[in-house]
Amino acid sequence: MNQAALIAAATALLGPKAVITDPADIAPWLTDWRGRWNGASSALLAPATTAEVAILVALAVQHRVPLVPQGGNSGMVGGATPPADGSALLLSLRRMNAIRSLSPEIAVAEAGVILETLHERAANVGRRFPLTLGARGSATIGGLISTNAGGTQVLRFGTMRSLVTGVEAVLPDGSIHDGLAGLKKDNRGYSIDQLLIGAEGTLGIVTAAALRLFPAVHERAVAWIGLASPQAALDLLRRLETQTDRIEGFEILPQSTLDLVLTHVPGTRAPLTGRHPWHVLVEATATSPEQEASTALLERLLTSPLAESLVEDATISATEAHARAFWHLRDSISEAERAIGPALQHDISVPIDAMPRFMIDAAAAVERAFPGSHASGFGHLGDGNVHFHVRPPSADQHGWIAANGRAASALVHDLVTAAGGSISAEHGIGQMKRDELARLGPSSRLYALRAIKAALDPLGIMNPGKLI
Ligand SMILES: Cc1cc2nc3c(=O)[nH]c(=O)nc-3n(C[C@H](O)[C@H](O)[C@H](O)COP(=O)(O)OP(=O)(O)OC[C@H]3O[C@@H](n4cnc5c(N)ncnc54)[C@H](O)[C@@H]3O)c2cc1C
Repeated sequence: MNQAALIAAATALLGPKAVITDPADIAPWLTDWRGRWNGASSALLAPATTAEVAILVALAVQHRVPLVPQGGNSGMVGGATPPADGSALLLSLRRMNAIRSLSPEIAVAEAGVILETLHERAANVGRRFPLTLGARGSATIGGLISTNAGGTQVLRFGTMRSLVTGVEAVLPDGSIHDGLAGLKKDNRGYSIDQLLIGAEGTLGIVTAAALRLFPAVHERAVAWIGLASPQAALDLLRRLETQTDRIEGFEILPQSTLDLVLTHVPGTRAPLTGRHPWHVLVEATATSPEQEASTALLERLLTSPLAESLVEDATISATEAHARAFWHLRDSISEAERAIGPALQHDISVPIDAMPRFMIDAAAAVERAFPGSHASGFGHLGDGNVHFHVRPPSADQHGWIAANGRAASALVHDLVTAAGGSISAEHGIGQMKRDELARLGPSSRLYALRAIKAALDPLGIMNPGKLI
């Protein structure tokens, strides 16, 4: 391994803008945004074109220096943080931030384009890229693809995997895979594009992607609904889905989580007058003025669930400000939880029909095994994905997490696995869950992941120590 030779050759070929070696400029990118992982890297490689990425990967192969791709560094699992021993170099895609083309159907965006920028550019031409999430101001297209990101509109539009029609990437041998034509039919064997989506930078460096665009939202309405159980929530969702295809968001939270938000987030107000064991937020959108107004649609669809007591109470946003206030309650859950101290967070999925039972049973099992803890799930019920958080008993929370955190998370992951689910529904494996993935397998998945990695990246150049 010869990092100095790579840095010298890269500087000579690409100039100092592409090879940053000042420790002060590199430092902000060596730690993940939550401060959980710290890495080291003697240079920050910052190519401006796909050809430059290919040159850098070829040099990495020649000098046997591993690379850690990084986009907005908003990931949750330490995937973009280099190893602490300084054995790898950071490769930032942030200079590759051009939108190469934008037609009504497809945007071709470089890896470093920030999600919010794509939203704005699409909106300027009356179109929409529907995937959105809390980190939209920093997450990049390359990072979103590499983590197969989800977000709040998955119910209707799917994850990144279903929004990408083609990927351009530099593979671990330095060759350029060009899938940007986005062929609807292409049966030349394995899909390289799909292999790269969710690969967390372990199979190559995504340099650009062709992304599907949709009609812009004309107007929307949000309902806040109180109900008795996660099963009632799922029954409601199923009912709504048979009557309309205009439901985009369906988020669940327990009363205890809403209470936390109302207590700790200034300016928030309870949407309903009474208390209910569970709450759901439902968003409906319209893309043209010819469609029935979203408020009227939700009112109509909620009439019989209310009459039949499937729903205990409901209120529907009358204005866009009102809709935003409902979403603010949902989006403030992490902030409210942080205000009362650390929690163990699990980003899990199980088959959708099994989720209501899982939410109740898993919470009870965790609270039984760890007396005084509080376990609950909230989030994207319609996708079979919830954030399952375990809050320590109130005294000495850090001490409790140090003593019990690993065992409590292992129990959650065991319960998820027993229910046929995934220990990573959205955020990926990174370095955070690598050992848990290795522990829980299944062996067929581990065999395939390891075989693919070894075949495509035999020198271990791409993002070492992540995923597998
Ligand atoms: C407030 C907040 C809310 C969030 N909400 C959600 C959510 O709802 N759903 C969700 O899925 N995620 C969510 N996330 C997580 C995060 O935003 C996503 O994982 C996002 O996709 C990361 O993008 P990034 O550009 O920041 O990637 P980074 O954090 O820089 O990298 C993430 C991973 O991708 C790899 N990578 C980055 N760029 C490339 C590239 N060009 N080629 C190859 N590999 C690359 C990195 O090596 C790393 O393994 C949230 C994060 C925050 C801070």
